[in-house]
Amino acid sequence: MDTVLKNIALIDGTGRTPIEEAILAIRDGIVLYAGPASGWSDISEVITLDLSGQFVLPGLIDAHVHLAGSGEVDSQFRAEDGDMALKILSNAQKNLAAGITTVRDLGGWNELEFAVREWIKRGEFAGPRMCLAGRFISITEAGADYYEGMYRAADGVDEVRKAVREQVKHGADLIKIGVTGAVLVENGVPGATHFNEDEIRALVDEAKKFDRRVAAHAHGADGIRKALQAGVHTVEHGTYLYQDPSAIQWMAEHEIFLVPTLKVGWDIIQANDANIPEWILEKNKATQGEAELSLKMAYEAGVAIAMGSDVGTPLNVHGENGLEIYWMGQAGMSPMDAIVAATGNAARALGWEAWMGTLQAGKVADLIVLDSNPLDDLRLLADKQHLQFVMKDGQIAACHAGSDLPSELFAEHLLLIK
Ligand SMILES: [Zn+2]
Repeated sequence: MDTVLKNIALIDGTGRTPIEEAILAIRDGIVLYAGPASGWSDISEVITLDLSGQFVLPGLIDAHVHLAGSGEVDSQFRAEDGDMALKILSNAQKNLAAGITTVRDLGGWNELEFAVREWIKRGEFAGPRMCLAGRFISITEAGADYYEGMYRAADGVDEVRKAVREQVKHGADLIKIGVTGAVLVENGVPGATHFNEDEIRALVDEAKKFDRRVAAHAHGADGIRKALQAGVHTVEHGTYLYQDPSAIQWMAEHEIFLVPTLKVGWDIIQANDANIPEWILEKNKATQGEAELSLKMAYEAGVAIAMGSDVGTPLNVHGENGLEIYWMGQAGMSPMDAIVAATGNAARALGWEAWMGTLQAGKVADLIVLDSNPLDDLRLLADKQHLQFVMKDGQIAACHAGSDLPSELFAEHLLLIK
């Protein structure tokens, strides 16, 4: 039985102009047709949903999350392993119910996220697609104690290679490296380079052997430069990137993605929450303007941008990820480009673009349906009042209580949008 969504406004994730009066047809979880109604000929054996006045987009892809964190004010994610596995699952489900059908986790906890991914894949639980880095590979530093279940400290070329092998062995889809210091580590200096050049090169080289991409946590310009020269695929945060226009140029020419993570800083600064430790507040205030400037310059230079909300970090809760798209718009991206950063471009950042990320024939039918046009206000992408339902693999994975959608389309485990 095929499914046809008709009378939709289609924003397909490629960046092209929305198609009014479009048709989207799905067979066996895959998009069969997506385009103007005029190009579609009817088929029999079909469930038709008339979605007049509604907007259909690819399911959103968040390229930087921490499923182990729930927005704890002090950024302390800790829990016993049993609790943590359930916390990771619960956070994963909050993503799916908010229309984030794919997450890339860049630092989990005791590698418990691998088991959660497996149980979701097997169909035991509802959940998003998960692209997992496992542990965050760092030098010996304070962060490795603060985030003890998330980090894997490795010093020297041999140890770095071993750390990559461990993560690959345990199930990592990609490798995360902490090239510079961090904002969310008390005495961390974001501008300071941590790994030496030979260590970064060895890490990327080792990851390449196993066909794994590398995501580089990098704030400082020196660290960014060394990461780029070593051949990483994405630069996370990129706070001080603006200081080096030649690095920006290099990223544009080699399609190295910038994942700016603006939402966490705004959440912390705007909340004015007395429970936020002073050092977290001050460090975010100090860097937010620079992070925005770096995104603006990179965007204008043609650097590929992927959306990453860094959800899990202080006050930055799962399910509100879509606000990152709004903040990217506020920093100067066009609404359409900001949406592409969370769909087609994010898929490219993961290396998964051949089969997902846009609503085109042959891609998986992961999609969201909104009752209003997100191009008019990007905040709609994080507003569950406007989110009608979520499909993953062509099945309804989340909808509102009392919705009159055909139950034949429900996934085995259906989440409520609340
Ligand atoms: Zn992060």
